Amino acid sequence: LDFLAQTDPAIAEIVDLELKRQRSHLELIASENFTSPAVLAAQGSVLTNKYAEGLPGKRYYGGCEFVDRAEQLAIDRAKELFGAAGANVQPHSGAQANFAVFLTLLKPGDTIMGMDLSHGGHLTHGSPVNVSGKWFKVVQYGVNKDTEQLDFEQIREIALKERPKLIICGYSAYPRTIDFVKFREIADEVGAYLLADIAHIAGLVASGHHPNPIPHCDVVTTTTHKTLRGPRGGLILTRDAELAKKLNKSVFPGTQGGPLEHVIAAKAVAFGEALKPEFKEYSAQVIANAQAMAEAFKARDIKLVSDGTDNHLILVDLRSISMTGKKADALVSQVNITANKNTVPFDPESPFVTSGLRLGSPAMTTRGMGTSEFQEIANIITDKLLSPEDETVQNNCLNRVANLCDRFPLYPYLQIPLPA
Ligand code: PLP
Repeated sequence: LDFLAQTDPAIAEIVDLELKRQRSHLELIASENFTSPAVLAAQGSVLTNKYAEGLPGKRYYGGCEFVDRAEQLAIDRAKELFGAAGANVQPHSGAQANFAVFLTLLKPGDTIMGMDLSHGGHLTHGSPVNVSGKWFKVVQYGVNKDTEQLDFEQIREIALKERPKLIICGYSAYPRTIDFVKFREIADEVGAYLLADIAHIAGLVASGHHPNPIPHCDVVTTTTHKTLRGPRGGLILTRDAELAKKLNKSVFPGTQGGPLEHVIAAKAVAFGEALKPEFKEYSAQVIANAQAMAEAFKARDIKLVSDGTDNHLILVDLRSISMTGKKADALVSQVNITANKNTVPFDPESPFVTSGLRLGSPAMTTRGMGTSEFQEIANIITDKLLSPEDETVQNNCLNRVANLCDRFPLYPYLQIPLPA
């Protein structure tokens, strides 16, 4: 890192400021986490210099003997972690992974069925601004208005009527367990492929704290940087070795060029970490912490979508305190808490305003916090939201956030040297 300060002080300063920001804020964005020092080291390595189009042992470039070993380790560990027959570790992101699946299974004009973005689905599951919404006919399902959970009768009805070629399950803002068996039954009934996008819950699946979609879905995609705690990237898994070959071709040359071997090495490190018993404990704590936070909000009469959580995230329904997501997001950031506004199901507000705040436990659990700290976090947020203009409350909340950050240091050994 000395080299960075000497060569490019402007960027060195930015890295330093970002490290300070991460250390001094409570990170509650449900899709973020802090990778291990080993993951950071692999990603910041000389493997970034290598071109390696193709797959291990079958490359279009010479000199791949060592990156081949890294990529093969990543593939083998991913297969072991999820019990999959095939794994492609090359997608640059979760969106790239989904695009490669669409290229494999669909033709433009085919019908896909995913969850409405405003109910917790992802952009790549058929939003009109994404290629998935531009190239395919999209039908969407949502959650039940009363339970705010998946409604399999409704999902089956829509599937029977629309006969989609692909059904997508797996979400960005859904706090409950996903029943992949029920999705499989519906997909079989209408002859659809089934894709599970477990970007958010991959770490919980890998550690056995959420049902595994692999036995029930044709393809499973995920990001590697959320609950799985790896580098920023994507991953495609399948139970079907023949389909795996087609998926490989859809990643390269279908939708990508050279793979990022430094990121792939970092994925291998993260998968290796996730195979260890400590990761099971970590994931159990992630869920316990989200649930502790949920109960603390409910104890103060703040409503949650679906009344709680089974996983790593909660969605605060701010209509219960007559506030918008936009306002709440701005207020918590005043006390050094990072979160994101989010639509709630049947939201009366626009996606830029929203009525929800999405809060996740993965990152602060990595810093070592437990259930009592997460209760405290919920109480800090509630205090701030209920007294938005009160300066005493503001200072009190800032002190409590600083206290938590001091007690659970982040990357204590890391220093970004700055130019004199
Ligand atoms: N799928 C789901 C369910 C997600 O939540 C996300 C990211 O938030 C993605 C896909 C896309 O991942 P990426 O941002 O790496 O493209």
